[in-house]
Amino acid sequence: MSESRTALVTGGGSGIGRSIALRLAEDGFAVAVLDLNGESAEQVAEEARQKGHTAAAFGNVDVSDRGQADEAVRRVRETLGGPVLVLVNNAGVARTESFLKISDDSWNRIMAVNLNGPFYFCQAVVPDMKEAGWGRIVNISSSSAQSGQQYMTHYVASKAGLIGFTKALALELGPAGITVNTIPPGFVDTPMLRASEERGLLGGTVDHHAELTPVRRPGRPEDIAAACSFLVSEEAGYITGQVIGVNGGRNT
Ligand code: NAD
Repeated sequence: MSESRTALVTGGGSGIGRSIALRLAEDGFAVAVLDLNGESAEQVAEEARQKGHTAAAFGNVDVSDRGQADEAVRRVRETLGGPVLVLVNNAGVARTESFLKISDDSWNRIMAVNLNGPFYFCQAVVPDMKEAGWGRIVNISSSSAQSGQQYMTHYVASKAGLIGFTKALALELGPAGITVNTIPPGFVDTPMLRASEERGLLGGTVDHHAELTPVRRPGRPEDIAAACSFLVSEEAGYITGQVIGVNGGRNT
């Protein structure tokens, strides 16, 4: 794998995105850590650089804004000096609200971040991938889109949309040497999960749910990063349009 291949990870400042960014840097990609939170994006990029890898932070970028997405991708190319050949659409927001209380604003925000964001970033980087005749896109959806999840209609609809988006785009981009897959994580110990636990939204503690999980532990961000590392590798070139669950056996 050439050192010059650039990978862009959205939401790379925290949780799953942070682990993916660090893992891809370890794998030899020049990594763009993009996040709404500038401070955390910089921390992750610095962590990768401390280990001798190539990484740069792109903070204060809202993936739901088309102009910011295009501008960020332009800066990524300029800073890391190459086309973006790997894209991980990981940035996401979750809310728990009973169906009749979901406002238009709340619905639209969830869709804008979780579904429009991947749409904008794919449109921004696919020309690079087409020109190179090689590309890898991984969309981080959610196991809740496989099982359903009460009080998260907007979130689940956005993530189910991302699964359909992945399947359709994979068919279109396959002939161009670009694979598009989705990982729907389930029950991964991140700030997002702990925030839900603290607010009493999990229906029990993380430990309680770990007992109900076939592998008897919560997922780690590194579990998702490992699957992502494989999907963006050279040898995963015959895998596209797939839903690769990483959930300890909670969904099959
Ligand atoms: P997290 O909250 O720890 O991290 C999400 C990151 O995305 C944060 O750094 C945040 O600043 C960033 N972000 C949010 N909105 C953004 C925006 N508009 N523009 C740019 N960056 C933005 O969450 P996590 O648990 O690591 O989740 C990562 C992804 O995995 C999300 O898409 C989430 O829906 C999905 N997921 C997580 C779990 C889980 O169990 N943790 C389960 C299923 C799906």
